[in-house]
Amino acid sequence: MERVYEAKTDCSGCGTCARLCPQGAIAMQADEEGFLYPDIQQENCIDCGVCKVRCPFQQDGHFKEAGPARFYAARHRSREVLEQSSSGGAFTAVSDAVLRQGGVVYGADYDETFCVAHKRAETAAQRDRMRISKYVQSDLGETFIQVKADLQKGRKVLFSGTPCQAAGLRSFLQGSPLLPNLYVCDLICHSIPSPYIWEAYKTLLEKENTGKLTHVQFRSKKDGWSRANSNKGFLFSLDGETVLREDDRFYELFFKVKAITRPSCSSCRFTDVQRASDVTIADYWGIEKYQPEWFDSLGVSLVMVNSEQGAALLKQCREDLLFEERPAAESLQEQQRLSRPGALPPERERFWEDFRQFGLAYVLKNYVQK
Ligand code: SF4
Repeated sequence: MERVYEAKTDCSGCGTCARLCPQGAIAMQADEEGFLYPDIQQENCIDCGVCKVRCPFQQDGHFKEAGPARFYAARHRSREVLEQSSSGGAFTAVSDAVLRQGGVVYGADYDETFCVAHKRAETAAQRDRMRISKYVQSDLGETFIQVKADLQKGRKVLFSGTPCQAAGLRSFLQGSPLLPNLYVCDLICHSIPSPYIWEAYKTLLEKENTGKLTHVQFRSKKDGWSRANSNKGFLFSLDGETVLREDDRFYELFFKVKAITRPSCSSCRFTDVQRASDVTIADYWGIEKYQPEWFDSLGVSLVMVNSEQGAALLKQCREDLLFEERPAAESLQEQQRLSRPGALPPERERFWEDFRQFGLAYVLKNYVQK
């Protein structure tokens, strides 16, 4: 097999092919934008075709539930949890339900240099680090293999990730008798920004402010939870200082310029009401219009229940989570990424040429601050 994918728009970097290859012939390699792609070591490949057949981007149906999904407004009963969450605390409630049963939670977390990778949590404290949104593609590493090992030990497992990662795990475990103990949770994903730009941005913050980053937080609620504030509120601190500073230029690049998005996000197969997960969590944008008494300036979650497994999980959250079923039309109206992917901007190529030649400070000045 020469390649797993034909064009970069056909690979989300989930790494399922690498984990399934019976020869271990596939390595995930970063391209010049920092996105991971499978690279086949031809001398080890026996041309079995597994990598292509099980690719969630290429398989018919993309491991999605047949639907229809049910939509809920949800809010955690604890004010403290709401303050610590990006939206209404649904992920905390759902993951607590699994941890209470002696289960394991997998989700995106920072390492000590604020690179994002999937981690395993057996306690609420470990899980808490997974709660706030992280606008960087996480490196799954050996997560799928760890999930399988936990399931084989009879543990319940909650896996949370982007829709393409969720589909990758479903592909990895396709046909397994272990599936009844697995809960898959995805989010309504807007696209994935380049890990190299994130690296360059961290370096720039340290250079401009003369110090070492010791805290980063996307989507703080310092100005309250609202759609208008959702693309703002990036906070950071250096050298352990307690005063958090704000800088929203990474959001500007991500949400406005859009040139740092992974190419496959523009042809995402998962911008759909049919999901490759049991539950989908997002912000309940527009709740103030549709059901004003549900609005809370600390956040309201949208929870989509996509399967019977997801319905059972939501039921187990009753003590922690207030929830109410809502019409699907509300979220279809508010969440563009339930119906279509975002397009790549025409200046993407020029942006990357400028970034490579002149660096991040230059593209921030010329693409964001113009
Ligand atoms: Fe591995 Fe088979 Fe794909 Fe070759 S064709 S890379 S052996 S999965």
